[in-house]
Amino acid sequence: MDIVGIYLREAMKEGCPICRILREYEESEIDTILYEHVNDPAVRTKFKESLGLCTYHAWKTLKKAYSNPLLGPLGVAIIYEHMLSTYIKTLESREKVKEGECFLCLLVEEKEKDTVEAIAERIEELLPVYESSEAILCKRHYEMIGSILREKNPQSAERLRKVQLEKLKKLREKMNSLIDKFDYRATERPTKEEVSSLPRVIEALKGLKNGATLRKKERKRRVRSVLLWR
Ligand SMILES: [Zn+2]
Ligand SMILES: [Zn+2]
Repeated sequence: MDIVGIYLREAMKEGCPICRILREYEESEIDTILYEHVNDPAVRTKFKESLGLCTYHAWKTLKKAYSNPLLGPLGVAIIYEHMLSTYIKTLESREKVKEGECFLCLLVEEKEKDTVEAIAERIEELLPVYESSEAILCKRHYEMIGSILREKNPQSAERLRKVQLEKLKKLREKMNSLIDKFDYRATERPTKEEVSSLPRVIEALKGLKNGATLRKKERKRRVRSVLLWR
């Protein structure tokens, strides 16, 4: 297996491997900005294009800065003072406030596409690893990989579908025994695995919150409002 394959194999531990990779990537991108690029003009321009990122990433960036004693809120304060001044200037001059796409969302979306393609390319090697792991691709990422495979490698698409079904059914069993143990007649306490089945079911259906999933919703909303205003 090549180095990318090894990296992907490592990600197949629990939950959706792609969602987990994206979450880690998002965190490290925010760290890099806060550690190295607070005063970088190129990065500042990117912030300005969206008037300080999307709502999700703006709050995530602040939370990250507060949660790390080595960072603190100063860097974020410097960036957002600039964004506020930009906003004030547009109000003063009666210009329209430009609020383009958040560059972190775009970066995450790019990373998502690359990761999905990388897994689809190495599916033969990765499928046995996936099958024997606790990982479960979320619906979105299963469908993204599936649509590439159905075109290029229909046999693997079918094998992946079977493995996925198997995993989902096993998860449903855990969830059912969790529900049973809530019954007042139940004598046993739920196991750790059963307790964790609830967040795992939500992750399997909805994935983890990240720039790529949020951006998709935002885009749909935009299309809808355009249609409504017609
Ligand atoms: Zn996912
Ligand atoms: Zn964003």
